[in-house]
Amino acid sequence: MPARLKALLLLAWALVRTLVRRALGKGRRGLAAFRANYDADRLPPVTAGERHELGQFGRCISCGLCDRGEAERILASSGRYRGIMALMVESSRSMPDFAAAALAFAEVPDAVLLEKEAGCPTRVPMRRVAAFVRAKALETSSTK
Ligand code: SF4
Repeated sequence: MPARLKALLLLAWALVRTLVRRALGKGRRGLAAFRANYDADRLPPVTAGERHELGQFGRCISCGLCDRGEAERILASSGRYRGIMALMVESSRSMPDFAAAALAFAEVPDAVLLEKEAGCPTRVPMRRVAAFVRAKALETSSTK
C-alpha cells in the first residue's frame, strides 16, 4: 500500500474514532485533557486572568536598572539568584523552570520588588510576576 494512502487511512480512522468517542461521552476533554497531556512537562493551565496578565509580564527591556544594589543578595544566594533582570527576562518565561525561578524569587522580598517597580522604565509588574511564578511552581510541584 502506498505510504500516502496508508497515512490518509490512519488519519480517517483517528477522526472517526475521536468522533465516536466524543459522541459516547468518552475520553478526556478540556482541562482534564490538558492536564493529562502537559502535567508531565510541568506546564499547568492558566486562568483567563493569568492569561491577560501574561501580556504585561514581558515588558522588560533589559536596561539593568533593577539590578542596582543587588550585588549583596546575589553573592549571598550561592548561585540561586542572579539579579532581578534575569528573573524578569529569563527565569519567569519558561514554566517548566518555575521551581528554580521560585527559589530565586525567594531571595528578593516583595518590599524590594515594590521599590524596583517604581524605578522601572517600562513598569514591569515585578510583584505580580513573582506571585505568578510562585503559584505555578507550587502547582507543578503538586502534580508530580
Ligand atoms: S528595570 Fe525594568 S526594564 Fe529594566 S531590567 Fe529591570 S525589569 Fe527590565
